[in-house]
Amino acid sequence: MDLSALLRPHLQHLHPYSSARDEFSGQAKIFLDANENSFGSTAGNSFHRYPDPYQSKLKHAISGVKGVPMESIFLGNGSDEPIDLLIRAFCRPGEDAVLTMPPTYGMYQVSAEINGVRNIEVPLGPDYQIDLPAVLRRLTEEVKLVFICSPNNPTGNSLRPDDIKAILARAGGLVVIDEAYADFNPGESFASQLGQYPNLVVLQTFSKAWGLAGLRLGMLFSSADLVALLNKIKPPYNISSPAQELALGALANAAAKDRMVEQILRQRSVLREQLLACAVVKKVYPSDANFLLVKVEHPREIYHRLLEQGIVVRDRSRLKLCAGCLRVTVGTPEENLELTATLSTL
Ligand SMILES: *Cc1c(COP(=O)(O)O)cnc(C)c1O
Repeated sequence: MDLSALLRPHLQHLHPYSSARDEFSGQAKIFLDANENSFGSTAGNSFHRYPDPYQSKLKHAISGVKGVPMESIFLGNGSDEPIDLLIRAFCRPGEDAVLTMPPTYGMYQVSAEINGVRNIEVPLGPDYQIDLPAVLRRLTEEVKLVFICSPNNPTGNSLRPDDIKAILARAGGLVVIDEAYADFNPGESFASQLGQYPNLVVLQTFSKAWGLAGLRLGMLFSSADLVALLNKIKPPYNISSPAQELALGALANAAAKDRMVEQILRQRSVLREQLLACAVVKKVYPSDANFLLVKVEHPREIYHRLLEQGIVVRDRSRLKLCAGCLRVTVGTPEENLELTATLSTL
């Protein structure tokens, strides 16, 4: 695929900012090139130095865990940053479009809107699966990015891999598969398909299974060409040194992540049973993620009654195809019990 033809014309000959660490990245005795504070840091550590702009150590470790080559990895300040960078790189405001499949993650729409880019919505079917014929019909030339969230937020289900592959085969632009919940999903990640589809972009994050939402670290896997291009337009030092260091530590401790994922999966089925025993609960949807979509009578009222008891869930009842639905993150056993005990009094 010709990425440079897909790129917005004014970026095709961009001269990126060249940071001090771009111009010199080797070993030296004395660093007087970046206007850092040579006397040290007010936080009492080595944070007076700018971070590695390309996060080489961290990418090396991620490559080992994910089986994706380093040059195919891009890291962002959360997944939100790569979502925005992709739209900015490929969609001309007022001309090009992204395609999304509501109900889904709200950031695709917001990011498109911020960038003045049209969002073509092709709703999921009533089973929360992709309406493939409708999507294929809408894959016109102006669609530069297709956002597919699987497992999908807020519905919780994963989308059929064959539908995703059909879109990958037909799309003229890039197909972004947001796998924020991949660790909870028994299905295979599309990261293993990067060699097959040059237009494939996979997003994952440290915010969910790794328990590092506060760190703001999102991963993008794609062709080395796309990663090189994003490196040119990203803010030079977009991942802070503490984020890089803490994530390295987390990756060395992947067994702890696996144990938490196991606990969450076990609690997910406990919570499902407890919810189904509540009179106000009409349906609990299947989930491959760390949350459950729950259909109740009078969602607004239940949301507020829970809030009065200090319990916050997400009211998703005004989204397309989600009438009556609350989204509930799987909590600890104590939290789940308190939630369902409160629900059963309503
Ligand atoms: C939570 C979530 C993310 C994570 O976003 P970060 O910016 O990495 O915290 C991404 N996509 C979806 C669908 C999510 O639900």
